[in-house]
Amino acid sequence: MTEEKKQGCSGNCASCSENCSSRDPKSLIEPTGEYNNIKHVIGVVSGKGGVGKSMVTSMLAVAMQRKGYKVGILDADITGPSIPKTFGINSRAMQNEIGILPAVTKTGIKLMSVNLLLPDKESPVLWRGPVIAGAVKQFWHDVVWGDLDYLFIDCPPGTGDVPLTVFQSIPLDCAVIVTSPQDLVSMIVKKAYNMANMMDIKVLGIVENMSYVVCPDCKKQFNIFGSGSETIAQELNLDLLGKVPIDVSLAQMVDNGEFERFEGDYLEKAAEKIAELSK
Ligand code: ADP
Repeated sequence: MTEEKKQGCSGNCASCSENCSSRDPKSLIEPTGEYNNIKHVIGVVSGKGGVGKSMVTSMLAVAMQRKGYKVGILDADITGPSIPKTFGINSRAMQNEIGILPAVTKTGIKLMSVNLLLPDKESPVLWRGPVIAGAVKQFWHDVVWGDLDYLFIDCPPGTGDVPLTVFQSIPLDCAVIVTSPQDLVSMIVKKAYNMANMMDIKVLGIVENMSYVVCPDCKKQFNIFGSGSETIAQELNLDLLGKVPIDVSLAQMVDNGEFERFEGDYLEKAAEKIAELSK
């Protein structure tokens, strides 16, 4: 006997965390905690590390926060967590009877990262894949996120078992792929794109980071790594959501934990597309 459809059910179990008995039995999607009301979950992914995925996650979160939305960041990059540092968070996570409490940044973005749980933030995380994947699931389920319009997931890089678990167990609305312009990385982008496709996750578009540098004297733009993302976006029929230059001040704001002060609307197109999800 099938359970009666819940109110508002779209019939798509992949984008829903309700634990109905009619849920596709093959689905590994985990429900979030009972005190959480998370409207949209957006995965920020990259085919490899070091392309600026965490920085782009932070930039998107700040952009949406500035638009007046309630925003959280789940740092699922367990072995290379950089989100707390970017926002100047040095405290340890606290817990109450309901669950683990996220840290809250100066402007009110909620975040959770393994760095908030480690005795000191220089400790390496020497965990095997299933343990790492378990921690990500716990961040999704046991953290008291409360009401959020958008939860950004800074996904682990690559296409290994941890990103796979994130894709399988958290109901992502869509994914944003971050790339740098080199050809080799663009080839790797296709892997990330194919992975999302295989998991039935809509790709919102591509962000090209470290796209160009602006000469401080003549203000001319130099595409020092080429400009492969336009071609790849066309090939994959995806939107190029924005280009972020190599900018020393961005790196400095990350290093100083003052990322909420960044100026520039490099990702405005991405932010508008994400805001459309709420309409
Ligand atoms: P990933 O998450 O892909 O491993 P990060 O976001 O941690 O990459 O970025 C790696 C390093 O590069 C960080 O120190 C970050 O501050 C720096 N960085 C990223 N994007 C830029 C940029 N557009 N301009 C200057 N520095 C950047």
